[in-house]
Amino acid sequence: MELCKLEAYTGQLMDADQFHDYCPNGVQVEGRPEVFRLVSGVTASLDLLKAAIGVGADAILVHHGYFWKNEDARIAGVKRARIEFLLRHNVSLLAYHLPLDAHPVLGNNAQLAQKLGFEVEGRFGEQSIACHGALTDELPLCGLEERVTRVLGRAPLIIGEGDTPVRRIAWCSGAAQGYFEEAIRLGVDAFLTGEISEQCVHLAREAGVAFIAAGHHATERYGVQALGAHLAQQFGISHQFIDIDNPV
Ligand SMILES: [Zn+2]
Repeated sequence: MELCKLEAYTGQLMDADQFHDYCPNGVQVEGRPEVFRLVSGVTASLDLLKAAIGVGADAILVHHGYFWKNEDARIAGVKRARIEFLLRHNVSLLAYHLPLDAHPVLGNNAQLAQKLGFEVEGRFGEQSIACHGALTDELPLCGLEERVTRVLGRAPLIIGEGDTPVRRIAWCSGAAQGYFEEAIRLGVDAFLTGEISEQCVHLAREAGVAFIAAGHHATERYGVQALGAHLAQQFGISHQFIDIDNPV
């Protein structure tokens, strides 16, 4: 599979041009022109690059790539080491950020909904990447906690009373704690995201809406896996997801 065709197809599938993002979407570092083996991961850390190149990747597909708005533009330090490693091995890096949160089927939020038993009823937040809806079965908060722990393989940090019934829920993968007030205004019983900030605790207590911090990394593992699997099936290339554990 030609890299340029893979990028063109994925960009269209992800509707990448429609997003005002904090980083470039698509090929961020160009390697060899043909892709037979694709490795996906959440973040293009040096550990992921090493693991991917260790299994013979031609291209690496991630949610968190490089070249973020407001970062130091110089290629130095950690950034230099990562880019030098990719270039030396002639391996490409493809990154999809907001488009991969938002995609209605392959996206992080759609995939989370599927795994956690949430039904999507609407969208909110910046560029409509966050979702709200209902649990397919009403659960007390402690029951939802048990489910999140089991599905994501990691205990969430929860602000709320365990016996509170949860039926309406809003969610957004990653660091979407800034959407909590908007979620409260939607009238949900709980809000689930990856990270939590200090003020979320007070908001949760005073609004009576539970806050579930399920892990930035843990909530963003599924979009890139679904996209990688889709590309593998579409083009007959091999795909492997490599999870580099991250406690945040
Ligand atoms: Zn993220």
